[in-house]
Amino acid sequence: MTTASATRPFVFLDRDGVINVDRKDYTKTRDEWVWMPGALEGLRLLTEAGFRIIVVTNQGCIARGLQTEEGLRRLHEWMLAEIERHGGRIERIYHCPHRTADDCDCHKPKPGLLLRAAGDFGFDPSQVFFVGDSWRDIEAARQVGARPILVTGIGSSGHSDPTLPPEHQVPSLLEAANLIITQTHCNDPL
Ligand SMILES: [Mg+2]
Repeated sequence: MTTASATRPFVFLDRDGVINVDRKDYTKTRDEWVWMPGALEGLRLLTEAGFRIIVVTNQGCIARGLQTEEGLRRLHEWMLAEIERHGGRIERIYHCPHRTADDCDCHKPKPGLLLRAAGDFGFDPSQVFFVGDSWRDIEAARQVGARPILVTGIGSSGHSDPTLPPEHQVPSLLEAANLIITQTHCNDPL
């Protein structure tokens, strides 16, 4: 499938609660990994529609000593291979290894990861959707003018803040993908 122009659109995705089921004690290994319903299909649809998928994820498990950078790299290497086996492709993963208390610029709701990705790839973050399951994702999206979509189905974190409404609310990444594809190609010809 081809896109409407040579410029392929970007999309931001959170990881935990969007791609894999959110665990309060973090998903650190393949044994702990559970795919969210509809995630692999949503990733495939976005990939086939020409989207370049950027994952932006808080992994405070590293600062807490529960995970190593090498352990996270191996987990993501496996995740990317599984996604590709199912027809999807993630362009790059950006993670924040800190805790909220560390006062970094990258721990969502801070927008550091989004700004870094936009700078690396040279796109305007206000033109993209951001699919997340937490108020932190909604707020990070708003900070850069991105369009937030909240995933609320089983396996999402359930963190929601009524003062931070998303642009859309969907049960899973599959519905988010369909919505993004429809809105991008129908309303905003690229
Ligand atoms: Mg999440």
